[in-house]
Order: sequence, then structure tokens, then C-alpha cells
Amino acid sequence: MNAAAAELDCVVPAGEPWMGLVRAGQVLRIIDLEGNQAVDTLFYSAEDGGEHYSAQDTISAQGNIYLTAGSVLLSNRSRPMLCIIADTCGRHDTLGGACSAESNTVRYALEKRHLHSCRDSFLLALSRDHAGLTKRDLPSNINFFMNVPVTAEGRLTFADGISAAGRYVDLEALMDVRVLISNCPQLNNPCNAFNPTPIRVLTRNCA
Ligand SMILES: [Zn+2]
Repeated sequence: MNAAAAELDCVVPAGEPWMGLVRAGQVLRIIDLEGNQAVDTLFYSAEDGGEHYSAQDTISAQGNIYLTAGSVLLSNRSRPMLCIIADTCGRHDTLGGACSAESNTVRYALEKRHLHSCRDSFLLALSRDHAGLTKRDLPSNINFFMNVPVTAEGRLTFADGISAAGRYVDLEALMDVRVLISNCPQLNNPCNAFNPTPIRVLTRNCA
């Protein structure tokens, strides 16, 4: 492990994907710069891309479908990958998944099929990264800052966002992780007011 890994600080434009490496002991901060932006995110072990964030393991271990401060993100091998150590938004979604050509068609209209989607952004970022990760390496993702309450009947609802400009989440890496983000390009979802906005991603070394 390279303890002197460069610290990151970049703005991810509205609708763009981003990939980066966060070393164990570093803290990754994701800032919702303008509010109510959905940040679709996956984490992979930097050592072995076959180990990745697992919604199933994380949800069953914490007994809660929402993520917030104190949540430990587990891998598909039940190992802790990251821990949320600060959260000024208060709730993040584990169930809604990534928008795709298929969901654009089902949720909105047939002619929306060719609009940008998080799944396409994920695949584009993976193809640029040359880490050997492909379509089969896309499990269920986290939607940071997205409010997806489950009703008493067990249905998902895409509700108005509860985030706001400047709210952030801090994640301490417990292993070296590769981060894959699609800063959601969705133009059809009222949860972002039909207006994708930029986010800021930065790392710091844990005190
Ligand atoms: Zn999306």
C-alpha cells in the first residue's frame, strides 16, 4: 500500500461518471453541491475486483435498509469496506439501484430509452479504467443523497429529496477501495427537480 497516495479533490460535473482510488485510513467526502442530486456509487476492493460492496450483506448486518453515520458497508465476502463516520444528509438509499435504458423505458416512455443513464455511465467509466471490471461486476449500488422510502405495503417510492446544497457524507476506508460513481444524469425524475447538478469528491487522511 502506498501511504503517500495523493489526496483527491475534484468536481464531478452533472451527469458524468468518476472513478478513483481511496486508501485504507483515508476519508472520502462526497458533497451534494447544489442539493438533491443522486450519487450512484459502488466500491470494489483495490486488490481484487471480485470483492465489492454488497447491499444484501450490509442491510442484513445492520438491520436497516437506509445508510447513515455508523453504517458499515460490507463486501460480498462480508468484510467491512468503509464506515460512514459523518453524514449531514441523514439517509441514503440501498434499494433503488441505478437508472438504465430499461428503467427509462418502463418508468417514463419508450422514447426515453436512449437518454443517458447511470448504468451506461458505470459501464463507460469501467471501460476507461482498465481494471478489468465489466458488466458482470455491477451489483446493486448505493444512491447517496437519494430518498427512497419503503411503504407499509413494501413498495418503493421515489420521494422528494431530503438533501440540500452543501450536505455531505464522509466514509472512512477500512481497506483500499476503488470507487465508482455515476453522478446521475437522469432528466425524468422529480427527486432532482429534473436537473442533474455537480458534486465534489475529496479525500483526506484520517486524523
Ligand atoms: Zn441515475
